[in-house]
Amino acid sequence: MSRLPTATAMNHPQNSAIVYLVGAGPGDPGLITIRGAECLSRADLVLYDYLVNPAILRYARPTAELICLGGHRFQRVMAQEEINARMVEAARTGRSVVRLKGGDPDVFGRTATETHALLAAGIRYETVPGVTAALAVAGYAGIPITHADYSSAVALVTGHERQDKKGPPLDYEALAEFPGTLIFYMGVTTARQWSEALIRRGKSAETPVAVVRRCSWTDQQDFRCTLGTVADEIFARKLRPPAVIVIGEVVGLAAEQSWFTARPLFATRVLVTRPRDQAENLVTSLTELGADVLVQPAIEISPPTDWAAVDRALLGLEHYDWLVFSSSNGVRMLLERLMQIGGDLRRLGKLKLAAIGPGTADALRRYCLRADIIPSEYRAEALAESLAPDAQGQRFLLARASRGREVLAEDLRAAGATVDQIVVYRSSDVDHPEPQIADALASGRIHWVTVTSSAIATSVVRMFGASLRKARIASISPITSGVLRRLGFVPAVEATRYTIDGLVEAILRDREPPDAA
Ligand code: SAH
Repeated sequence: MSRLPTATAMNHPQNSAIVYLVGAGPGDPGLITIRGAECLSRADLVLYDYLVNPAILRYARPTAELICLGGHRFQRVMAQEEINARMVEAARTGRSVVRLKGGDPDVFGRTATETHALLAAGIRYETVPGVTAALAVAGYAGIPITHADYSSAVALVTGHERQDKKGPPLDYEALAEFPGTLIFYMGVTTARQWSEALIRRGKSAETPVAVVRRCSWTDQQDFRCTLGTVADEIFARKLRPPAVIVIGEVVGLAAEQSWFTARPLFATRVLVTRPRDQAENLVTSLTELGADVLVQPAIEISPPTDWAAVDRALLGLEHYDWLVFSSSNGVRMLLERLMQIGGDLRRLGKLKLAAIGPGTADALRRYCLRADIIPSEYRAEALAESLAPDAQGQRFLLARASRGREVLAEDLRAAGATVDQIVVYRSSDVDHPEPQIADALASGRIHWVTVTSSAIATSVVRMFGASLRKARIASISPITSGVLRRLGFVPAVEATRYTIDGLVEAILRDREPPDAA
Protein backbone atom coordinates (compact mmCIF):
# COMPACT_ATOMS: atom_id res chain seq x y z
CA MET A 1 0.00 0.00 0.00
CA SER A 2 1.47 3.37 -0.96
CA ARG A 3 2.03 5.65 2.01
CA LEU A 4 0.72 9.19 2.15
CA PRO A 5 3.20 11.99 2.81
CA THR A 6 2.83 12.85 6.50
CA ALA A 7 0.38 15.61 7.24
CA THR A 8 2.59 17.19 9.91
CA ALA A 9 5.41 17.88 7.47
CA MET A 10 3.04 20.10 5.56
CA ASN A 11 1.46 21.71 8.58
CA HIS A 12 4.00 24.35 9.29
CA PRO A 13 2.54 27.69 10.32
CA GLN A 14 3.79 29.86 7.44
CA ASN A 15 1.87 27.71 5.04
CA SER A 16 -1.62 29.23 5.08
CA ALA A 17 -2.89 27.36 2.03
CA ILE A 18 -5.65 25.05 3.21
CA VAL A 19 -8.50 23.00 1.84
CA TYR A 20 -11.43 21.87 3.96
CA LEU A 21 -12.94 18.54 2.98
CA VAL A 22 -16.44 18.96 4.30
CA GLY A 23 -19.20 16.40 4.62
CA ALA A 24 -22.48 18.00 3.54
CA GLY A 25 -24.63 15.23 4.98
CA PRO A 26 -27.22 13.26 3.03
CA GLY A 27 -29.43 16.10 1.73
CA ASP A 28 -31.41 17.91 4.40
CA PRO A 29 -29.50 21.21 4.70
CA GLY A 30 -29.89 21.03 8.48
CA LEU A 31 -27.72 17.93 8.62
CA ILE A 32 -24.40 19.60 7.86
CA THR A 33 -22.29 20.07 11.00
CA ILE A 34 -21.78 23.49 12.59
CA ARG A 35 -18.08 23.19 11.77
CA GLY A 36 -18.95 22.42 8.14
CA ALA A 37 -21.24 25.45 7.87
CA GLU A 38 -18.54 27.58 9.48
CA CYS A 39 -15.96 26.49 6.86
CA LEU A 40 -18.49 27.16 4.11
CA SER A 41 -19.22 30.62 5.44
CA ARG A 42 -15.54 31.51 5.09
CA ALA A 43 -14.85 29.85 1.74
CA ASP A 44 -13.83 31.76 -1.38
CA LEU A 45 -14.20 28.69 -3.55
CA VAL A 46 -16.61 25.80 -3.05
CA LEU A 47 -16.27 22.67 -5.19
CA TYR A 48 -19.32 20.52 -4.58
CA ASP A 49 -20.52 17.12 -5.74
CA TYR A 50 -23.82 16.59 -7.49
CA LEU A 51 -25.01 14.56 -4.47
CA VAL A 52 -24.86 17.72 -2.35
CA ASN A 53 -28.16 19.53 -1.93
CA PRO A 54 -27.57 23.00 -3.48
CA ALA A 55 -29.73 24.43 -0.66
CA ILE A 56 -26.68 23.88 1.58
CA LEU A 57 -24.81 26.50 -0.43
CA ARG A 58 -26.86 29.12 1.39
CA TYR A 59 -24.28 28.82 4.17
CA ALA A 60 -21.65 30.13 1.76
CA ARG A 61 -20.94 33.83 1.26
CA PRO A 62 -22.80 35.47 -1.62
CA THR A 63 -19.42 36.29 -3.20
CA ALA A 64 -18.02 32.75 -3.01
CA GLU A 65 -17.34 30.99 -6.29
CA LEU A 66 -19.48 27.84 -6.41
CA ILE A 67 -18.59 25.05 -8.80
CA CYS A 68 -20.67 21.91 -9.25
CA LEU A 69 -18.49 19.02 -10.25
CA GLY A 70 -21.21 17.51 -12.35
CA GLY A 71 -22.72 14.10 -12.45
CA HIS A 72 -26.13 15.36 -13.50
CA ARG A 73 -27.38 14.41 -16.90
CA PHE A 74 -26.62 17.72 -18.54
CA GLN A 75 -23.43 18.59 -16.80
CA ARG A 76 -19.88 17.86 -17.69
CA VAL A 77 -18.24 15.68 -15.09
CA MET A 78 -14.95 17.20 -14.02
CA ALA A 79 -12.08 14.72 -14.16
CA GLN A 80 -10.41 13.93 -10.86
CA GLU A 81 -7.09 15.45 -11.99
CA GLU A 82 -8.87 18.66 -12.88
CA ILE A 83 -10.57 18.81 -9.48
CA ASN A 84 -7.25 18.26 -7.73
CA ALA A 85 -5.57 20.93 -9.86
CA ARG A 86 -8.36 23.46 -9.13
CA MET A 87 -8.08 22.90 -5.38
CA VAL A 88 -4.30 23.19 -5.35
CA GLU A 89 -4.22 26.26 -7.54
CA ALA A 90 -6.90 28.09 -5.53
CA ALA A 91 -5.34 27.23 -2.17
CA ARG A 92 -1.91 28.37 -3.39
CA THR A 93 -3.24 31.78 -4.28
CA GLY A 94 -4.45 32.12 -0.70
CA ARG A 95 -8.12 31.43 -1.31
CA SER A 96 -10.03 29.48 1.28
CA VAL A 97 -11.24 26.30 -0.42
CA VAL A 98 -14.05 23.96 0.60
CA ARG A 99 -14.39 20.62 -1.11
CA LEU A 100 -17.99 19.73 -0.26
CA LYS A 101 -18.99 16.10 -0.50
CA GLY A 102 -22.28 14.26 -0.01
CA GLY A 103 -22.66 12.42 3.30
CA ASP A 104 -19.33 11.87 5.01
CA PRO A 105 -16.23 12.63 2.92
CA ASP A 106 -14.55 9.39 3.97
CA VAL A 107 -17.39 6.96 3.36
CA PHE A 108 -17.11 5.87 -0.26
CA GLY A 109 -16.05 9.42 -1.02
CA ARG A 110 -12.87 8.77 -2.99
CA THR A 111 -11.22 11.20 -0.66
CA ALA A 112 -7.83 9.51 -0.65
CA THR A 113 -6.95 10.57 -4.20
CA GLU A 114 -7.74 14.18 -3.32
CA THR A 115 -5.89 14.31 -0.02
CA HIS A 116 -2.93 12.62 -1.66
CA ALA A 117 -2.78 15.28 -4.35
CA LEU A 118 -3.09 18.06 -1.76
CA LEU A 119 -0.31 16.75 0.44
CA ALA A 120 1.93 16.14 -2.56
CA ALA A 121 1.46 19.79 -3.49
CA GLY A 122 2.20 20.96 0.05
CA ILE A 123 -1.36 22.05 0.79
CA ARG A 124 -2.80 21.40 4.24
CA TYR A 125 -6.26 20.00 4.62
CA GLU A 126 -8.79 19.40 7.35
CA THR A 127 -11.64 16.95 7.16
CA VAL A 128 -15.04 17.80 8.60
CA PRO A 129 -17.12 14.63 9.04
CA GLY A 130 -20.70 14.45 7.83
CA VAL A 131 -23.79 12.31 8.35
CA THR A 132 -23.38 9.40 5.99
CA ALA A 133 -26.37 8.04 4.03
CA ALA A 134 -26.64 4.88 6.15
CA LEU A 135 -27.09 6.91 9.31
CA ALA A 136 -29.60 9.20 7.64
CA VAL A 137 -31.66 6.11 6.80
CA ALA A 138 -31.83 5.29 10.47
CA GLY A 139 -33.15 8.72 11.34
CA TYR A 140 -35.23 9.65 8.31
CA ALA A 141 -36.63 6.30 7.20
CA GLY A 142 -37.09 5.08 10.75
CA ILE A 143 -35.05 1.90 10.39
CA PRO A 144 -32.93 1.18 13.46
CA ILE A 145 -29.65 -0.06 12.00
CA THR A 146 -28.61 -1.75 15.22
CA HIS A 147 -30.89 -3.43 17.73
CA ALA A 148 -30.11 -5.09 21.03
CA ASP A 149 -31.98 -8.26 20.01
CA TYR A 150 -31.51 -8.43 16.26
CA SER A 151 -28.39 -6.65 15.10
CA SER A 152 -25.16 -6.02 16.98
CA ALA A 153 -23.10 -4.95 13.98
CA VAL A 154 -23.45 -2.95 10.79
CA ALA A 155 -21.47 -3.28 7.58
CA LEU A 156 -21.34 -0.52 4.99
CA VAL A 157 -20.80 -2.21 1.64
CA THR A 158 -20.26 -0.87 -1.85
CA GLY A 159 -22.32 -2.33 -4.65
CA HIS A 160 -19.82 -0.94 -7.11
CA GLU A 161 -16.34 -2.33 -6.75
CA ARG A 162 -13.71 -1.05 -9.11
CA GLN A 163 -12.42 -3.86 -11.31
CA ASP A 164 -8.80 -2.72 -10.93
CA LYS A 165 -8.86 -2.21 -7.16
CA LYS A 166 -5.64 -3.04 -5.36
CA GLY A 167 -7.09 -4.91 -2.36
CA PRO A 168 -9.01 -8.19 -2.41
CA PRO A 169 -12.55 -8.24 -3.86
CA LEU A 170 -15.56 -8.29 -1.54
CA ASP A 171 -15.92 -11.61 0.24
CA TYR A 172 -19.60 -12.42 -0.28
CA GLU A 173 -19.33 -15.53 1.82
CA ALA A 174 -18.30 -13.46 4.81
CA LEU A 175 -21.00 -10.89 4.01
CA ALA A 176 -23.67 -13.60 3.76
CA GLU A 177 -22.68 -14.76 7.24
CA PHE A 178 -22.25 -11.28 8.67
CA PRO A 179 -24.07 -11.21 12.03
CA GLY A 180 -25.86 -7.90 11.63
CA THR A 181 -27.23 -5.32 9.20
CA LEU A 182 -25.78 -4.91 5.70
CA ILE A 183 -26.13 -1.52 4.05
CA PHE A 184 -25.30 -1.27 0.38
CA TYR A 185 -24.21 2.02 -1.19
CA MET A 186 -24.08 2.47 -4.96
CA GLY A 187 -26.08 -0.70 -5.33
CA VAL A 188 -29.02 0.32 -7.53
CA THR A 189 -27.70 -0.67 -10.95
CA THR A 190 -25.90 -3.73 -9.58
CA ALA A 191 -28.75 -5.03 -7.40
CA ARG A 192 -29.04 -8.31 -9.30
CA GLN A 193 -25.35 -9.13 -8.91
CA TRP A 194 -24.97 -8.47 -5.19
CA SER A 195 -28.35 -9.88 -4.14
CA GLU A 196 -27.74 -13.11 -6.07
CA ALA A 197 -24.19 -13.33 -4.75
CA LEU A 198 -25.46 -13.13 -1.16
CA ILE A 199 -28.21 -15.70 -1.76
CA ARG A 200 -25.77 -18.07 -3.49
CA ARG A 201 -23.52 -17.90 -0.41
CA GLY A 202 -26.41 -18.89 1.81
CA LYS A 203 -28.15 -15.70 2.93
CA SER A 204 -31.91 -16.27 3.06
CA ALA A 205 -33.87 -14.85 0.13
CA GLU A 206 -36.54 -13.96 2.71
CA THR A 207 -34.26 -11.52 4.53
CA PRO A 208 -36.15 -8.19 4.87
CA VAL A 209 -34.84 -5.35 2.71
CA ALA A 210 -35.55 -1.62 2.63
CA VAL A 211 -34.59 0.58 -0.29
CA VAL A 212 -34.31 4.27 0.55
CA ARG A 213 -33.79 6.77 -2.23
CA ARG A 214 -32.72 10.40 -1.72
CA CYS A 215 -32.91 9.96 2.00
CA SER A 216 -33.65 13.22 3.87
CA TRP A 217 -34.48 15.11 0.66
CA THR A 218 -37.97 16.50 0.25
CA ASP A 219 -38.71 13.75 -2.28
CA GLN A 220 -37.39 10.81 -0.26
CA GLN A 221 -38.83 7.49 -1.43
CA ASP A 222 -38.62 4.15 0.29
CA PHE A 223 -40.06 0.70 -0.04
CA ARG A 224 -39.73 -2.70 1.58
CA CYS A 225 -39.12 -6.07 -0.07
CA THR A 226 -36.85 -9.07 0.44
CA LEU A 227 -33.39 -10.01 -0.68
CA GLY A 228 -34.96 -12.34 -3.24
CA THR A 229 -37.15 -9.64 -4.80
CA VAL A 230 -35.03 -6.50 -4.47
CA ALA A 231 -33.50 -6.63 -7.97
CA ASP A 232 -36.91 -7.08 -9.65
CA GLU A 233 -38.49 -4.36 -7.50
CA ILE A 234 -35.77 -1.85 -8.36
CA PHE A 235 -36.14 -2.69 -12.04
CA ALA A 236 -39.94 -2.57 -12.02
CA ARG A 237 -39.97 0.80 -10.25
CA LYS A 238 -37.28 2.16 -12.58
CA LEU A 239 -35.53 3.38 -9.44
CA ARG A 240 -32.57 5.66 -10.05
CA PRO A 241 -29.63 6.33 -7.70
CA PRO A 242 -28.85 7.56 -5.15
CA ALA A 243 -30.29 4.95 -2.86
CA VAL A 244 -29.04 2.80 -0.05
CA ILE A 245 -30.30 -0.72 0.51
CA VAL A 246 -30.67 -1.98 4.06
CA ILE A 247 -30.66 -5.75 4.53
CA GLY A 248 -31.50 -7.42 7.80
CA GLU A 249 -34.09 -8.21 10.44
CA VAL A 250 -34.07 -4.59 11.66
CA VAL A 251 -36.01 -3.59 8.54
CA GLY A 252 -39.02 -5.42 9.96
CA LEU A 253 -38.86 -3.27 13.09
CA ALA A 254 -39.43 0.04 11.33
CA ALA A 255 -42.83 1.68 11.36
CA GLU A 256 -44.65 1.66 8.03
CA GLN A 257 -43.98 5.40 7.73
CA SER A 258 -41.19 7.42 9.24
CA TRP A 259 -41.71 10.73 11.04
CA PHE A 260 -40.13 12.34 8.00
CA THR A 261 -42.52 11.14 5.31
CA ALA A 262 -45.49 11.27 7.69
CA ARG A 263 -45.32 15.06 8.02
CA PRO A 264 -48.51 16.60 6.61
CA LEU A 265 -46.96 18.48 3.68
CA PHE A 266 -44.32 15.91 2.78
CA ALA A 267 -43.70 15.78 -0.99
CA THR A 268 -45.78 18.93 -1.49
CA ARG A 269 -44.03 21.68 -3.44
CA VAL A 270 -45.03 25.19 -2.41
CA LEU A 271 -44.05 28.49 -3.99
CA VAL A 272 -43.59 31.44 -1.67
CA THR A 273 -43.89 34.81 -3.40
CA ARG A 274 -43.10 37.27 -0.61
CA PRO A 275 -40.04 39.51 -0.74
CA ARG A 276 -37.03 37.44 0.31
CA ASP A 277 -36.33 39.17 3.61
CA GLN A 278 -39.93 38.65 4.68
CA ALA A 279 -40.30 35.11 3.45
CA GLU A 280 -38.59 33.41 6.35
CA ASN A 281 -41.61 32.80 8.62
CA LEU A 282 -43.66 31.24 5.88
CA VAL A 283 -40.74 29.24 4.51
CA THR A 284 -39.91 27.88 7.97
CA SER A 285 -43.50 26.92 8.84
CA LEU A 286 -44.00 25.12 5.53
CA THR A 287 -40.61 23.42 5.66
CA GLU A 288 -41.23 22.15 9.18
CA LEU A 289 -44.45 20.59 7.93
CA GLY A 290 -42.46 18.71 5.30
CA ALA A 291 -43.05 20.87 2.22
CA ASP A 292 -40.46 21.46 -0.47
CA VAL A 293 -40.47 25.25 -0.52
CA LEU A 294 -39.35 27.42 -3.43
CA VAL A 295 -39.10 31.19 -3.20
CA GLN A 296 -39.80 33.56 -6.05
CA PRO A 297 -40.46 37.06 -4.77
CA ALA A 298 -43.23 38.78 -6.72
CA ILE A 299 -42.48 42.20 -5.31
CA GLU A 300 -39.43 43.99 -4.05
CA ILE A 301 -39.30 46.38 -1.15
CA SER A 302 -36.94 49.33 -1.34
CA PRO A 303 -36.49 52.69 0.37
CA PRO A 304 -38.54 55.64 -0.89
CA THR A 305 -36.92 57.69 -3.68
CA ASP A 306 -37.09 60.72 -1.45
CA TRP A 307 -37.07 60.75 2.36
CA ALA A 308 -37.89 64.47 2.71
CA ALA A 309 -41.57 64.03 3.64
CA VAL A 310 -40.76 61.17 6.04
CA ASP A 311 -38.01 63.19 7.73
CA ARG A 312 -40.32 66.19 8.11
CA ALA A 313 -42.93 64.00 9.75
CA LEU A 314 -40.34 62.35 12.01
CA LEU A 315 -39.13 65.76 13.17
CA GLY A 316 -42.67 66.84 13.96
CA LEU A 317 -44.14 63.73 15.54
CA GLU A 318 -45.47 65.78 18.47
CA HIS A 319 -48.11 67.15 16.07
CA TYR A 320 -49.80 63.76 15.87
CA ASP A 321 -51.93 61.67 18.19
CA TRP A 322 -51.70 58.39 16.29
CA LEU A 323 -49.07 56.65 14.22
CA VAL A 324 -50.59 53.90 12.08
CA PHE A 325 -48.71 51.03 10.44
CA SER A 326 -50.20 48.83 7.78
CA SER A 327 -47.27 46.44 7.36
CA SER A 328 -44.16 45.20 9.09
CA ASN A 329 -42.11 46.78 6.28
CA GLY A 330 -43.55 50.13 7.28
CA VAL A 331 -42.49 49.62 10.90
CA ARG A 332 -38.98 48.63 9.96
CA MET A 333 -38.43 51.35 7.38
CA LEU A 334 -39.81 54.18 9.50
CA LEU A 335 -38.02 53.26 12.72
CA GLU A 336 -34.70 52.60 11.00
CA ARG A 337 -35.00 56.00 9.34
CA LEU A 338 -35.65 57.58 12.73
CA MET A 339 -32.32 56.18 13.96
CA GLN A 340 -30.54 57.24 10.78
CA ILE A 341 -31.49 60.87 11.17
CA GLY A 342 -30.25 60.92 14.73
CA GLY A 343 -33.49 60.29 16.61
CA ASP A 344 -34.66 57.33 18.65
CA LEU A 345 -37.80 55.84 20.15
CA ARG A 346 -38.21 58.73 22.60
CA ARG A 347 -39.37 60.85 19.67
CA LEU A 348 -42.56 58.77 19.62
CA GLY A 349 -43.43 60.28 23.01
CA LYS A 350 -47.12 59.96 23.79
CA LEU A 351 -48.11 58.87 20.29
CA LYS A 352 -50.56 56.02 20.19
CA LEU A 353 -49.70 53.18 17.83
CA ALA A 354 -51.99 51.18 15.59
CA ALA A 355 -51.05 48.03 13.69
CA ILE A 356 -53.12 46.42 10.97
CA GLY A 357 -52.47 42.88 12.20
CA PRO A 358 -50.36 40.63 14.42
CA GLY A 359 -47.41 40.54 11.96
CA THR A 360 -47.15 44.32 12.09
CA ALA A 361 -47.60 44.28 15.87
CA ASP A 362 -44.76 41.73 16.10
CA ALA A 363 -42.54 44.05 14.08
CA LEU A 364 -43.29 46.82 16.60
CA ARG A 365 -42.54 44.50 19.49
CA ARG A 366 -39.06 43.91 18.06
CA TYR A 367 -38.47 47.61 18.75
CA CYS A 368 -39.99 47.24 22.24
CA LEU A 369 -43.16 49.01 21.16
CA ARG A 370 -46.65 47.78 21.89
CA ALA A 371 -49.52 48.43 19.51
CA ASP A 372 -52.44 50.18 21.23
CA ILE A 373 -54.85 48.84 18.65
CA ILE A 374 -54.91 45.76 16.45
CA PRO A 375 -58.29 45.22 14.78
CA SER A 376 -59.89 41.81 15.13
CA GLU A 377 -59.94 41.43 11.36
CA TYR A 378 -56.65 42.26 9.71
CA ARG A 379 -57.56 44.70 6.97
CA ALA A 380 -57.77 48.43 6.40
CA GLU A 381 -61.58 48.68 6.77
CA ALA A 382 -61.48 46.94 10.14
CA LEU A 383 -58.59 49.08 11.32
CA ALA A 384 -60.48 52.24 10.33
CA GLU A 385 -63.55 50.93 12.14
CA SER A 386 -61.70 50.29 15.37
CA LEU A 387 -60.07 53.74 15.22
CA ALA A 388 -63.19 55.64 14.12
CA PRO A 389 -65.03 56.02 17.47
CA ASP A 390 -62.26 58.25 18.88
CA ALA A 391 -61.05 59.71 15.59
CA GLN A 392 -62.96 63.00 15.76
CA GLY A 393 -60.44 65.85 15.93
CA GLN A 394 -57.48 63.46 16.22
CA ARG A 395 -54.37 63.77 14.08
CA PHE A 396 -53.20 60.60 12.35
CA LEU A 397 -49.94 59.85 10.60
CA LEU A 398 -50.12 56.82 8.30
CA ALA A 399 -46.85 55.11 7.38
CA ARG A 400 -47.55 53.39 4.08
CA ALA A 401 -46.20 51.85 0.88
CA SER A 402 -45.77 53.69 -2.41
CA ARG A 403 -48.82 51.87 -3.62
CA GLY A 404 -51.61 50.65 -1.50
CA ARG A 405 -55.23 51.22 -0.77
CA GLU A 406 -56.65 54.64 0.17
CA VAL A 407 -59.50 53.28 2.23
CA LEU A 408 -57.90 53.81 5.64
CA ALA A 409 -57.19 57.52 5.07
CA GLU A 410 -60.64 58.07 3.54
CA ASP A 411 -62.50 56.34 6.36
CA LEU A 412 -60.55 58.18 9.05
CA ARG A 413 -61.19 61.54 7.38
CA ALA A 414 -64.87 60.65 7.16
CA ALA A 415 -64.78 60.02 10.90
CA GLY A 416 -63.55 63.57 11.48
CA ALA A 417 -59.78 62.96 11.75
CA THR A 418 -56.91 64.88 10.20
CA VAL A 419 -54.77 62.47 8.21
CA ASP A 420 -51.25 62.78 6.83
CA GLN A 421 -49.74 59.94 4.82
CA ILE A 422 -46.05 59.33 4.29
CA VAL A 423 -44.54 56.80 1.91
CA VAL A 424 -41.95 54.91 3.99
CA TYR A 425 -41.09 52.27 1.41
CA ARG A 426 -41.50 51.52 -2.24
CA SER A 427 -43.03 48.30 -3.42
CA SER A 428 -42.34 47.34 -7.02
CA ASP A 429 -43.11 44.27 -9.12
CA VAL A 430 -40.37 41.80 -9.93
CA ASP A 431 -40.17 41.69 -13.72
CA HIS A 432 -39.27 38.10 -14.49
CA PRO A 433 -39.37 34.91 -12.47
CA GLU A 434 -36.31 32.65 -12.38
CA PRO A 435 -36.57 30.33 -15.41
CA GLN A 436 -36.39 27.11 -13.33
CA ILE A 437 -39.32 28.29 -11.22
CA ALA A 438 -41.36 29.32 -14.25
CA ASP A 439 -40.64 25.88 -15.77
CA ALA A 440 -41.54 24.03 -12.61
CA LEU A 441 -44.88 25.86 -12.44
CA ALA A 442 -45.66 25.45 -16.15
CA SER A 443 -44.99 21.71 -15.99
CA GLY A 444 -47.19 21.18 -12.94
CA ARG A 445 -44.36 20.45 -10.53
CA ILE A 446 -45.50 23.12 -8.08
CA HIS A 447 -48.58 22.18 -6.06
CA TRP A 448 -49.32 25.43 -4.25
CA VAL A 449 -48.67 29.11 -4.90
CA THR A 450 -49.05 31.28 -1.80
CA VAL A 451 -50.33 34.83 -2.28
CA THR A 452 -50.00 37.10 0.74
CA SER A 453 -51.17 40.53 -0.46
CA SER A 454 -53.07 42.33 -3.21
CA ALA A 455 -49.84 43.69 -4.69
CA ILE A 456 -48.38 40.20 -4.78
CA ALA A 457 -51.58 38.85 -6.36
CA THR A 458 -51.30 41.31 -9.25
CA SER A 459 -47.62 40.69 -9.74
CA VAL A 460 -47.90 36.90 -9.57
CA VAL A 461 -50.58 36.89 -12.28
CA ARG A 462 -48.49 39.17 -14.49
CA MET A 463 -45.36 37.09 -13.87
CA PHE A 464 -46.79 33.62 -14.47
CA GLY A 465 -50.02 34.11 -16.43
CA ALA A 466 -51.83 30.91 -17.41
CA SER A 467 -49.17 28.69 -15.78
CA LEU A 468 -50.77 29.64 -12.47
CA ARG A 469 -53.64 27.33 -13.34
CA LYS A 470 -51.31 24.36 -12.97
CA ALA A 471 -51.07 24.95 -9.23
CA ARG A 472 -53.54 25.59 -6.44
CA ILE A 473 -53.57 29.12 -5.11
CA ALA A 474 -53.63 29.81 -1.38
CA SER A 475 -54.80 33.34 -0.59
CA ILE A 476 -54.23 35.17 2.69
CA SER A 477 -57.50 37.14 2.80
CA PRO A 478 -60.77 38.00 1.04
CA ILE A 479 -59.21 41.23 -0.30
CA THR A 480 -56.34 39.29 -1.87
CA SER A 481 -58.77 36.67 -3.18
CA GLY A 482 -60.88 39.46 -4.70
CA VAL A 483 -57.90 40.75 -6.66
CA LEU A 484 -57.09 37.23 -7.86
CA ARG A 485 -60.67 36.59 -8.91
CA ARG A 486 -60.89 39.85 -10.83
CA LEU A 487 -57.80 38.73 -12.73
CA GLY A 488 -59.46 35.41 -13.51
CA PHE A 489 -57.81 33.15 -10.93
CA VAL A 490 -59.90 31.55 -8.23
CA PRO A 491 -57.96 30.64 -5.10
CA ALA A 492 -58.37 27.05 -3.95
CA VAL A 493 -58.18 28.07 -0.30
CA GLU A 494 -58.40 31.29 1.66
CA ALA A 495 -57.10 31.89 5.18
CA THR A 496 -59.73 32.43 7.87
CA ARG A 497 -57.19 34.29 9.98
CA TYR A 498 -55.43 36.77 7.68
CA THR A 499 -51.93 35.93 8.86
CA ILE A 500 -49.05 33.73 7.72
CA ASP A 501 -50.12 31.07 10.24
CA GLY A 502 -53.68 31.37 8.97
CA LEU A 503 -52.48 30.79 5.42
CA VAL A 504 -50.54 27.67 6.42
CA GLU A 505 -53.62 26.40 8.29
CA ALA A 506 -55.72 26.88 5.16
CA ILE A 507 -53.34 24.72 3.13
CA LEU A 508 -53.32 22.08 5.84
CA ARG A 509 -57.13 22.09 6.09
CA ASP A 510 -57.35 21.44 2.39
CA ARG A 511 -55.53 18.13 2.85
CA GLU A 512 -58.00 16.84 5.36
CA PRO A 513 -60.91 14.79 4.06
CA PRO A 514 -64.15 16.80 3.99
CA ASP A 515 -66.36 16.19 7.03
CA ALA A 516 -68.75 13.34 6.55
CA ALA A 517 -72.24 14.79 6.38
N1 SAH B 1 -19.97 9.92 0.96
C1 SAH B 1 -21.35 9.53 0.77
C2 SAH B 1 -21.45 8.32 -0.15
C3 SAH B 1 -20.99 8.58 -1.55
S1 SAH B 1 -21.16 7.19 -2.60
C4 SAH B 1 -21.99 9.26 2.12
O1 SAH B 1 -21.29 9.24 3.13
O2 SAH B 1 -23.20 9.11 2.17
C5 SAH B 1 -22.73 7.52 -3.35
C6 SAH B 1 -23.79 6.63 -2.77
O3 SAH B 1 -24.18 7.10 -1.51
C7 SAH B 1 -25.08 6.61 -3.55
O4 SAH B 1 -25.00 5.74 -4.66
C8 SAH B 1 -26.04 6.09 -2.53
O5 SAH B 1 -25.89 4.71 -2.35
C9 SAH B 1 -25.52 6.75 -1.27
N2 SAH B 1 -26.24 7.99 -0.95
C10 SAH B 1 -25.74 9.21 -0.83
N3 SAH B 1 -26.68 10.12 -0.46
C11 SAH B 1 -27.82 9.41 -0.34
C12 SAH B 1 -29.15 9.74 0.05
N4 SAH B 1 -29.50 10.98 0.39
N5 SAH B 1 -30.08 8.76 0.08
C13 SAH B 1 -29.75 7.48 -0.23
N6 SAH B 1 -28.51 7.12 -0.61
C14 SAH B 1 -27.55 8.06 -0.64
